[in-house]
Amino acid sequence: GREAQRVLTSAANWHCDSAMNFVTRFAPTPSGYLHLGHAFSAWTAWRAACDKDGRFLLRLEDIDTTRCKREFEAPLFDDLIWLGLDWELPVRRQSEHFDEYAAVLERLRATGLVYRCFKTRTEILEDIARAPHGVGEVYRGPFAPMPADEEAARLAAGEAYAWRLSLDRCRDHLGDRFGAMRFVEEGASTVKGQGAREVVADPSPLGDVVLARKDVGTSYHIAVVHDDALQGISHVIRGEDLFELTPLHVLLQTLLGLPTPIYRHHRLLLDESGKRFAKRDQAATLQAMRESGETSE
Ligand code: GLU
Repeated sequence: GREAQRVLTSAANWHCDSAMNFVTRFAPTPSGYLHLGHAFSAWTAWRAACDKDGRFLLRLEDIDTTRCKREFEAPLFDDLIWLGLDWELPVRRQSEHFDEYAAVLERLRATGLVYRCFKTRTEILEDIARAPHGVGEVYRGPFAPMPADEEAARLAAGEAYAWRLSLDRCRDHLGDRFGAMRFVEEGASTVKGQGAREVVADPSPLGDVVLARKDVGTSYHIAVVHDDALQGISHVIRGEDLFELTPLHVLLQTLLGLPTPIYRHHRLLLDESGKRFAKRDQAATLQAMRESGETSE
């Protein structure tokens, strides 16, 4: 009777408490069908949540509304169900929260940490070609806003621009905290040896990154950092292709006063020719595998 009820309730509470500690997510971009690489990533995160009796969330990173299509969502859910995964509802769809990301950008703008960059794609390619290290180097930004009168003229002419995060201003703003940024990496692929290690979060190699484009109004970086904090993600489990961007995410968390989750970057699955799976490889889609009668195992 009442005693059993009490035990049940406290067991349920205990379950909730422990589940609160470990929260992870799979955050695909619905711009095509999922492939084996996505399956590996989703399964890795889901499995980790199960192991810790934690929570597993699904988030659709669909801020690029030209590439992302609603028609990719139903097959995406079907693929994950076929794999045997389950997740909490509701699913967060980033395209429904542009106002939140705009508010984040506005905070950075009001603090004077971002500047307008009017460079066109062609100008950027020319800059890269002129750079001392030549073609192929990552473009790291003009490093400074243009003179105020030129900027005013370009704005008046209705020219398009992107917002870039100024690393110089971030350094000034954060002082000693800039060099002290760290994150915990638990991923086996980027770690030589076992267990968690602390990584210095140095965003300098990335330069002054674009945080909002004219056509999108936000970026993956703003949206992912905002959502991970909002959703209480304790462990970000994702492909190691995103490892190099993590220092930038830690910088944004530091600027915005958000917690830095633990990161676990996993290796990427490769196809038979040693290449990463890509959305254009139609044969490797989970949907094609499902339809050809393959089992999820
Ligand atoms: N939406 C990103 C992708 O599909 C993943 C972002 C993340 O896990 O942080 O590659």
